[in-house]
Amino acid sequence: MRIGIIGAGMAGLSCAVALRGQGHHPVLFDKGRGPGGRMSTRRIDTPLGEAAFDHGAQYLTARDPSFVMQVDRWAQAGHVARWSPAGADGWVGTPAMNAPIRAMADDCDVRWNTAIDVLTHDGDWSIGGERFDVAIIAVPAEQVVPLAVDHDAALVDAARSAVSDPCWTAMAAFDGLVPIDADRLGHGGILGSAVRNSAKPGRTGPEAWVLQANADWSRAHLEDDPEMVGHMLVEAFADRVGADMPAVIATRVHRWRYAKAGALDRGAFWNADIRLGACGDWLFGPRIEAAWLSGHRLAQLVDCKQPVAPSPLTSC
Ligand SMILES: Cc1cc2nc3c(=O)[nH]c(=O)nc-3n(C[C@H](O)[C@H](O)[C@H](O)COP(=O)(O)OP(=O)(O)OC[C@H]3O[C@@H](n4cnc5c(N)ncnc54)[C@H](O)[C@@H]3O)c2cc1C
Repeated sequence: MRIGIIGAGMAGLSCAVALRGQGHHPVLFDKGRGPGGRMSTRRIDTPLGEAAFDHGAQYLTARDPSFVMQVDRWAQAGHVARWSPAGADGWVGTPAMNAPIRAMADDCDVRWNTAIDVLTHDGDWSIGGERFDVAIIAVPAEQVVPLAVDHDAALVDAARSAVSDPCWTAMAAFDGLVPIDADRLGHGGILGSAVRNSAKPGRTGPEAWVLQANADWSRAHLEDDPEMVGHMLVEAFADRVGADMPAVIATRVHRWRYAKAGALDRGAFWNADIRLGACGDWLFGPRIEAAWLSGHRLAQLVDCKQPVAPSPLTSC
């Protein structure tokens, strides 16, 4: 089968890798310039050298046995390492959070820099000018809607009901160590978390912190001026530290409109009649592990040989 996948984040690539294991050769389309999705890493030149920031997901956890095995394989290949600030089952990508995504993408046929705005179906699916038997949508719930609206009302309804939390993120590099022992601070004030990126395993460069606002604050300030938001997050961080801070040498700000999925616990979506599927964290849980599991689940459904129940939200 010719299979086209829109979105080469953790879910889309997990699905693609599983489908390749089943003998298919899917083609992925992603609007990003390179591997990452919400596991992206931003690099910034500073007077003290390049600073790197995992500005989306900070770490991943592995609990499901199949994902534990996958993470062990990534660890053996050097793509992830344990990171104790996230607990006993916490891991980070090495040398950057996008490393597992990059590794999966290296084995797949991915068209980067290719935003798909329209999905058409005339018996075949047309994606980015190429024709496919199967179309898979592996993007955040809100971005599923315009792609699926002409094809599957149940998928659109499901996606509309999974509302994501936004997250304002500031990246700040400093000219010296921020004087606290912890490399990770949890919720407090307007901050949802603060992480010393430069202390994660395999990182080099100047002192670098990722400061993420909590969901309520991010939503209330969603349309605010990014510079002002960055300023407020750095100030809030300095207040939390409560000691003399080193000088800030570089900052950047990123607004994630769809950061943490309002997940449905459905696993994956498969409409066998028109061969349209969807996977992503929004169908399972707002975490990297859930996105990986959703992609794998959908790959099983695509190749399901049993009769399929009328409901498109079905299992094999
Ligand atoms: C700020 C933040 C903090 C987080 N913290 C954690 C954490 O600590 N631990 C954790 O487990 N999870 C965390 N998450 C959640 C985690 O990042 C996601 O659950 C996971 O990465 C989702 O993977 P996905 O493949 O479903 O979606 P994505 O990673 O969003 O992948 C979707 C891909 O689709 C592409 N795309 C979208 N629309 C189109 C289009 N029209 N055409 C082409 N391509 C398109 C995008 O470029 C993207 O690469 C965090 C997320 C954010 C944003």
